[in-house]
Amino acid sequence: MGKVVAGVAIVCAAAACAAAAVVVSSRMRVRSQRRHARNVLQEFQEACSTPLPRLRQVVDAMAVEMHAGLVSEGGSRLKMLPTFVDRLPHGDEKGLYYAVDLGGTNFRVLRVQLGGKQGRVIKQEYEEVAIPPELMIGSSDELFDFIAKELSSFVAREGDGFRPVAGQSREIGFTFSFPVQQTALNSGTLLNWTKGFKVVDAIGQDVVAALQTCIQKRGHEMRIAALVNDTVGTLAGGRYWNEDVMIAVILGTGTNAAYVERAQAISKCGNVLPKSGQMVINMEWGNFWSSHLPRTQADEALDNETINPGEQGFEKMISGMYLGDVVRRVLLKMAQEAALFGPNVPRKMLEAFSLGTPDMSKMHADESSDLKVVGNVLRDVYGIENTSLAVRKIVYEVCDTVAERGARLAAAGIVGILKKIGRDGTHSKWKVASEQNHVNGCEEVGSPVASECGKTVVAMDGGLYERYSKFRAYMQVAVVELLGDASKDVVVELSKDGSGIGAALLAASVSQNGRK
Ligand code: ADP
Ligand code: MG
Repeated sequence: MGKVVAGVAIVCAAAACAAAAVVVSSRMRVRSQRRHARNVLQEFQEACSTPLPRLRQVVDAMAVEMHAGLVSEGGSRLKMLPTFVDRLPHGDEKGLYYAVDLGGTNFRVLRVQLGGKQGRVIKQEYEEVAIPPELMIGSSDELFDFIAKELSSFVAREGDGFRPVAGQSREIGFTFSFPVQQTALNSGTLLNWTKGFKVVDAIGQDVVAALQTCIQKRGHEMRIAALVNDTVGTLAGGRYWNEDVMIAVILGTGTNAAYVERAQAISKCGNVLPKSGQMVINMEWGNFWSSHLPRTQADEALDNETINPGEQGFEKMISGMYLGDVVRRVLLKMAQEAALFGPNVPRKMLEAFSLGTPDMSKMHADESSDLKVVGNVLRDVYGIENTSLAVRKIVYEVCDTVAERGARLAAAGIVGILKKIGRDGTHSKWKVASEQNHVNGCEEVGSPVASECGKTVVAMDGGLYERYSKFRAYMQVAVVELLGDASKDVVVELSKDGSGIGAALLAASVSQNGRK
């Protein structure tokens, strides 16, 4: 009997030991996996790092590339496109103007009644329509006819308070946020698509003529007066209210920048320079590239799977279309190599663009002690239940790393522009004044007044900048870090919906009836 009891006890002890061993080994496995995930994170963080010296190299590279792009066609990956906008709105424009804004995910139509310096924007209305995905990769006719149709139904609903100037047709500012080679303010040839569009037969076409034809087919007497990029629209919209606005940057689905350049600096334009002595340049900075940009394996893999590999390198590191997917790729690596989300890799995580930047920013905004929101997003997007705090922390860190890198690089881009126009604090004030003359808002060359250039305002727009507060904060910190003392003269501010209304304002400022 004693032997039986002893035997049972031994068996039980052995079973308990085995169970304990299983528990211990499973804990050890989880720990080692977690360690592996943390190593992946650390490696990624190192590859993404943007210490000040590196950022300064990006700043310099941006300024150098800008210069090269202005000197000759194809001289840089930055297209530095002349826009033929040689004067920006002042505030005295009057009348009814329309804008059509084709930017990316959304398409907008807008009307605005302008009342001159006193009345300013008396009334405005807009409508936003999602672009049917099939039209983004369909034919040119279908795309422009869709825009004309939406515009036409919007015009049909023009209500009280909107009055075109008597005897004038309604004029339109057309915001078209893709690379266009302009030949005049109201004509331009599409060079290539970005942001997921691929309407092949539109490349090489005059996009103004294409839209104008579709509008006329619908029986409307409307004239497209100005073709502008969204950044140029934002610049115009910002300048309408604040004469210190010199630069506009969009951080939305894609990214781009425009600024006011001295006409003489645009050597590739030869003799056809505007009399005003200045011209707005559409940089198409999404295509900026420099060996100083911190590129990781995740960026390379993302680039290879886009429809425009090798292009828009800067955009793929800093804009809303891509940030979420960089995060997804790092999480996927952690899932595959370190079983971060359990033994199986969540199927949906294999899908490109399954994690949107809004999801990423939601997780990144999580201030709760248990990172509840991070857990919820992982559950809602990927069906991952019951994540531990340790896992959530790792996911949070990945979001933080991708956002911080993107924001600091965007800041370096802005400071690069400031450097190019002599507003980064490294030029002597007198030199800046005499070089830039009234282009930068200074009235008289070399005079005491001219040495006080005052503030430089950077007008920002785009869903990413507007809605991703941690991105915005990282950007601001990096601008101050880079500019040092000179940062007190630089204001980076949201200029909401400038792109739409800015195009209407430009249409007004170039129209015969715009300035009385
Ligand atoms: P578009 O660039 O298409 O003209 P927007 O300027 O409105 O349009 O920007 C939309 C983009 O902004 C989205 O594609 C997304 O990447 C980003 N975005 C929107 N909401 C958020 C958010 N809450 N957090 C971070 N990014 C966001
Ligand atoms: Mg836009």
